[in-house]
Amino acid sequence: MTKKPWLMLGEQCYVSLRMRYTRSKVYSGVKQHFCPKCQRGYTDRNNMIRHMRHQCGIPPKYKCPYCDHPSRFSHNVYAHVRRHHPQRDIYYVRIS
Ligand SMILES: [Zn+2]
Ligand SMILES: [Zn+2]
Repeated sequence: MTKKPWLMLGEQCYVSLRMRYTRSKVYSGVKQHFCPKCQRGYTDRNNMIRHMRHQCGIPPKYKCPYCDHPSRFSHNVYAHVRRHHPQRDIYYVRIS
């Protein structure tokens, strides 16, 4: 058996390149999956499927008190306020 260290190295390089590629694809935020009903774009196919099953066509019930960000769930508004209005009190406004 002849040892081929260059092949090992080559494979490692290939793997790390692939990982980098996958990671940069996730972080670049390119929306490649679009809901066929409302054309909303998602970076992740599973998120799009979840949207189609649980969100699409259902009007939001809550919104952010500091901007017009709507949401179907109060906990999403909490997360939004924490992220986008970090100095403000955390609460939500009911639309319906
Ligand atoms: Zn949709
Ligand atoms: Zn807001």
